[in-house]
Amino acid sequence: MNANFLNLSPEELAAALSEMGEPAYRAGQIFSWMHKGVTLSGMSDLPKKLRASLAERGEVFFPEVVRKLVSKIDGTTKYLFSLADGQMIESVVMRYKYGNTICISSQVGCRMGCRFCASTLGGKVRDLEPGEMLGQIIAAEKDLGERISHVVMMGIGEPMDNYDNVVKFLRLVNHEKGLNISYRAISVSTCGVAEKIRKLAEEDFPITLSISLHASDDETRSAIMPVNNKYPLDVLMPACRYYFDRTGRRISFEYTLIAGKNDDTASAGRLAELLHRHFGRNCPVHVNLIPLNEVKERGLKTSTPKSVRAFQEKLDSLGINATVRRTLGPDIQASCGQLRRRELDGEAPVTAENAGEEERTPD
Ligand code: SAH
Repeated sequence: MNANFLNLSPEELAAALSEMGEPAYRAGQIFSWMHKGVTLSGMSDLPKKLRASLAERGEVFFPEVVRKLVSKIDGTTKYLFSLADGQMIESVVMRYKYGNTICISSQVGCRMGCRFCASTLGGKVRDLEPGEMLGQIIAAEKDLGERISHVVMMGIGEPMDNYDNVVKFLRLVNHEKGLNISYRAISVSTCGVAEKIRKLAEEDFPITLSISLHASDDETRSAIMPVNNKYPLDVLMPACRYYFDRTGRRISFEYTLIAGKNDDTASAGRLAELLHRHFGRNCPVHVNLIPLNEVKERGLKTSTPKSVRAFQEKLDSLGINATVRRTLGPDIQASCGQLRRRELDGEAPVTAENAGEEERTPD
């Protein structure tokens, strides 16, 4: 792959330009152009000669839309993007009253091995570069012709397993000369890599941290999330508490409800106890209940609406704030990893009646 200038901060660009004998102010121009989705050839206020010498050193690459699915139900838009080396990732844009939120991928595949997840089938292929994370947002904005105001890192991959690139991405996406997305409008989700949660706390970004918890005892959690063998609950939870103490940001705990595995009210009771033990009586956390999105290779079943309700009521009665996540884009397989999986398996992406699909060939 050619070097992608989109990975660079204005300071790094300025350093590269100075090596080429060019004035530093060009860095600001290039940075702004790139973050508006413009490649070298479109940077009209740069001398042609400079553009040509930059092109000898690298390129400005944006992920290319291979497939785009638009939900007829709620407008949720899912992209299958291809990268410079032909690898594929997914991003989803969700339409909320307060603006557009994009869910982006942080790796090609994932090596965390969660038993219910489609992204980890086939393992991790590689980490995404900062510019490839940023590029998903820019490419989606360009395609939609709309601004994206919120970012969640809940797509394919484990952000804390690609820590340095994710932190670099966070600085780039927040940059005032770039997309200028506020840290408060960004969520990072992790399956629980405790040491990286502590490290992230020390970066002092006021982002929201989401923890994919999915179980309230070690035995159940280790059975569905291998990461728990390395970072069991008595290691993970203090790291979460540290994050809260250091940033003052309320943590969001994700809990995927799987029939017969973790969705009984006794589990809900244990969850409340676990959260109270680590966060105290008035517990400044939020629990997001997510009925499992069934992945056919996984053979696990989603909870019944009745169990979901009982689980939520139990938490509520114990003073834990919990909401059931609304399913967006149910007609387009909007959950992470499923579209890429189908593409790799050579299956049709969705059935014909789920039109709204625009198929593209990368140009
Ligand atoms: N690796 C990160 C982010 C990606 S997954 C993490 O684990 O947090 C985003 C969220 O979707 C996680 O909470 C994950 O556990 C959940 N998830 C994955 N597969 C799912 C499925 N089939 N049904 C419901 N939620 C799922």
